[in-house]
Formats: sequence, structure tokens, C-alpha cells
Amino acid sequence: LLRKADILIVGAGFYGATLAERIATQLGRRVLVIDRRQHIGGNAYTEQDPATGVEIHRYGPHLFHTSNEEVWNYLRTFTGFTPYRHRAFSTYRDKVYPLPINLATICQFFGKRLSPDEARGMITGQAAELGDRPPANLEEKAISLVGRPLYEAFIKGYTAKQWQTDPRELPAQIIARLPVRYTFDDGYFNDRFQGQPVDGYTAIFEKMLAHELIETRLGVDFFDIKPLLPKDLPVVYTGPIDRYFDYSEGELGWRTIDIDLEIMDTPDHQGTAIMNYADETVPYTRVVEFRHFNPERQHKSDKTLIGREYSRFAGRTDEPYYPIDTRRDQAVYRRYLERAAAEQNLHLGGRLGTYRYLDMHQAIGAALKAFETVLAPYFAGELDSVSRSP
Ligand code: FAD
Ligand code: UDP
Repeated sequence: LLRKADILIVGAGFYGATLAERIATQLGRRVLVIDRRQHIGGNAYTEQDPATGVEIHRYGPHLFHTSNEEVWNYLRTFTGFTPYRHRAFSTYRDKVYPLPINLATICQFFGKRLSPDEARGMITGQAAELGDRPPANLEEKAISLVGRPLYEAFIKGYTAKQWQTDPRELPAQIIARLPVRYTFDDGYFNDRFQGQPVDGYTAIFEKMLAHELIETRLGVDFFDIKPLLPKDLPVVYTGPIDRYFDYSEGELGWRTIDIDLEIMDTPDHQGTAIMNYADETVPYTRVVEFRHFNPERQHKSDKTLIGREYSRFAGRTDEPYYPIDTRRDQAVYRRYLERAAAEQNLHLGGRLGTYRYLDMHQAIGAALKAFETVLAPYFAGELDSVSRSP
């Protein structure tokens, strides 16, 4: 198989599957996709829970959202989307508030009816403690966005549980993911295109990889077959970059999540898909009730499946989920990039391969771009290697 393939893709997540699909259908080349897991889909994998019939997201809840029309149109060739629009809530000191922080959250928290201008004026006053300095880390960014009282209620404790890292050591982008609104719009994302795939995420990957020029082998670890690779075979690697180089420059920090699944003896446990818990005294960060991601489906069971999420530092044998990306991590990552640039015919991509907190649409967008700028030119003979700094 290795000898017949024109390219090897390590990882059947969105980055790898998008490139495999493009290379096979647009260039007519033979692609071998391997994944060390027993299934395709990477972290977006979904399956049906046998006891309740509910679709479960095995590696944590996945909500699709994008403003990138190219990605949206591309993905819609493999699936339809439901009109699901994500809303979330946070429980703080036994009271429930809407997320992301919006005018309803602010009014409820301060116990006042505030107009958008009044709320903005109040938060700007609270954020003034930072002066004119641009926010340099997560804590400063959060205070600049919502002021200290809301930061201490909804962000400080949750972030402490999620990252167990001093928020002054964490990059500001982590919190910049979340909108803050001075309207009563309580949708979790701002993006133009949102929805859940009608038949689940795994069905998308089945379609993407169903091509006669794509061969998928599951339960195969790249490092077991690496010594057998033909010398000139180009490799797209979407696993952890530090693992690729055998941790020679040091380990990159990752968070992982333990999801404690429980079948509850009621058809509806919490009335919504995701409930965050802001208090540090509650050990889990959030509770996911999967059936609420698919309100369009008939839910016949009188039971429901929930998952409590506990975040912790990822060791080498854990699933790496969230790049921590402290300054030390960034320095280590730069050293790996230098090593990668010296490799023959290696393309690193995806969330693990580029050590970035990529959402699905960003992983797909990055793969489409890499196809245009690296893989297609390589197979057209315009580039002599797929190696390129991500
Ligand atoms: P992955 O999906 O991680 O795929 C990489 C694959 O490589 C894996 O299947 C892995 O098994 C395989 N691999 C690694 N090493 C090897 C090896 N040595 N040999 C063979 N195979 C290997 N995004 C959103 O847009 N919305 C969300 O709501 C959302 N929620 C998330 C919640 C959680 C808890 C997590 C962790 C992520 C979430 N994401 C979300 C992000 C989303 O999962 C990623 O954007 C997406 O999975 C990236 O795809 P990828 O192909 O880069 O990586
Ligand atoms: N966050 C928070 N309180 C919340 C939700 C999020 O402080 O109730 C912070 C936290 O630091 C988190 C980040 O915002 O890591 C990004 O949140 P998001 O919901 O995007 O996280 P993900 O879905 O990637 O787990």
C-alpha cells in the first residue's frame, strides 16, 4: 500500500480528510490515510449511544460555525445542516445566567435594567483599571472586555478549572474567542453560518473518504510504519508536532478532558445542551446533554445521556485537546518549526501539527489553503517538496 500511494496522510480528522478528498478528486492521485484510532473523524467523531439512541460526541461537544463561505460551501457538498443555533448558560452561586456575556447577563448580574449605553459605560469604567496598555494576557483581555466583577464571576473560576494555569500566563486569544454583546442576542457564536450536520459528524468523513483513490487504514500508528516509508513519499502529519520529533526540544503543554458519562433517569436533565459551572468549588467545568444538539430528532427514550467535563494536564499517553500556549510553549514550538523546515517532504497541519486552538472551520480552511498553495503545486511539479513552515 505504501508503495502504491502518491502521498501518506497521518490523521483522519478534518485537516487530513479535507486534503485526502481534494488530492484524490481534484488531482487524481492515490492517497493513503492512516489513523491510530479505530475510527475516522478525529476529535469531531460522533456515534450513536446504544442505550438512549442519542448522538454522542465522544471527544467533547462539537458545534459547527463559520463565516468563511468557501468552507461552508465545501462542507455542504458532504452534508446538510440543521438550523441549530447554539446557546449556552453559566451557573454561578446557584443562579443561572445566559452566555456569552450579553445585556441580559449584565442586567441580571447587577440586578438593574440597563440600556446598551448604560451597560457599556459601566463596563468601560470597570475596565479602566488597565489604563491605555493593550491587554497582554487572558486576565487583562477579559477585564478589558467585561470589567473585573463579571470577570471574577464568570471567567476567573471557570478558566482556573479549564486551564489550571495562571490567567496572566495564558494568551489573550483564548478569551477573544467569546463575543461580548450590549444587546439581548444570546447566540453563542457571531458567525454567519451555523448548524449541526443532519446525520452527525462521522457521516461527513465517510463521504469525504469514500473515493476509489483513497485507502483508509485504522488502528495504524505512524511511528510503527515510519521505518518502512519509501524515501520520497510525501507525508502530511496531523499528530502532535512534539511527538513527531520525539520530544527532543521539550514537551508542549496540552490540556485534556475526562468526560464522565452518565445516563439519567429522566428524558431531560437540564433543558439545554451545555451548562457551564463558573464556581471553582464545582469540580467540573460544564455539563453536556447531547440530545439537545438535535432538537429536530424524535427522542424516544425516557432517559438522557449527560457528560460532566473535568479538565486536566495531558501527559504523553492522554489525548491532547487544548494547546496551553504559554510563552515557554511558544519558544518550544518555534524550535520544532525550525526542525520541521529541515525535513524532507513533510507537511505539518491541523490542531496538533501546528499547535493551534483551531476550530473545525479553521482546520478545514487551512487544509483548503494548503491544497491550493502546497499540495496542488507539488503534484504539478512546481514544488520539489511538501515541506513548508505552517
Ligand atoms: P484531529 O481531529 O485531532 O485529528 C488528528 C488525528 O490524527 C486524530 O484522529 C489522531 O488519532 C490522529 N493521529 C495523531 N497521531 C497519530 C499517529 N502517530 N498515527 C496515526 N494517527 C495519528 N471545533 C469547532 O469548530 N466547534 C466546537 O464546538 C469544537 N469543540 C471542541 C471541543 C473539544 C473538547 C475539542 C478537543 C475540540 C473542539 N473543537 C471544536 C475543535 C475540533 O475538534 C478541531 O478543530 C478539529 O478536530 C481539528 O481537526 P484536525 O484534523 O486538525 O485534528
Ligand atoms: N470561558 C470562561 N467562562 C465560560 C466559558 C468560557 O471563562 O463560562 C473562557 C475559558 O477560559 C475558556 C475560553 O473562555 O477556555 C473559551 O471558551 P469556549 O467556550 O470557546 O471553549 P471551548 O468550547 O473551546 O472549550
